Amino acid sequence: MAIVGLTGGIGSGKSTVVRLFGDLGVHWVDADDVAREVVEPGTPALRTIADHFGQAILTTGGALDRARLRQIVFEDPQERAWLEALLHPIIRDELIRQLNPEQNRLPYVLLVSPLLLETDQHQLVDRIVVIDVPVDTQIERTMARDTNSRDQVERIIAAQMPREQRLAKADDVIDNNRPPEEVERNVRELHERFVVDFG
Ligand code: ADP
Repeated sequence: MAIVGLTGGIGSGKSTVVRLFGDLGVHWVDADDVAREVVEPGTPALRTIADHFGQAILTTGGALDRARLRQIVFEDPQERAWLEALLHPIIRDELIRQLNPEQNRLPYVLLVSPLLLETDQHQLVDRIVVIDVPVDTQIERTMARDTNSRDQVERIIAAQMPREQRLAKADDVIDNNRPPEEVERNVRELHERFVVDFG
């Protein structure tokens, strides 16, 4: 079973494109979802985090206070390293588990992740597909989708891998600066190629 990695910057169209593959029957896993699942209330990882940072890292409802945690690791690289050392192997194991469906009539599955190239997640995949749009499009679409200011979106983009660097790592590129029906056709072509290549 081959694993195809799908990545791109914020607002590039990862969620949109992975749903198009899903419509063709492709099994997919979203690394963002998994990263949230492994720290849900009751998980060993959340207990370890609360032991390390104290109960103040939890909301009154007992969930992880993500904003607080983000602030701590933003200010302290050592705490960031501690957190990553805890979570990355747990996320990786859970990704591997979810990427192996009990039944799959297709020869490949998809891992969609904003951090595919920045973390060791790229080691899990056989092929890298980058969804590409110009930075202006990224900013416009993210602002239209979220309630972030232009400034906030620009800061997030600046913290991510630069467009050219990401493109240089791509085996295939999906140009998402086009009308949805053209992107859909591109997805269908890629899918057909993957079925042959990995079949
Ligand atoms: P990501 O998951 O990479 O952050 P999304 O898939 O959420 O990006 O796309 C960002 C926004 O752009 C969404 O509101 C989505 O509906 C819109 N979008 C995605 N692809 C296109 C496209 N080809 N044309 C117009 N809007 C698009």
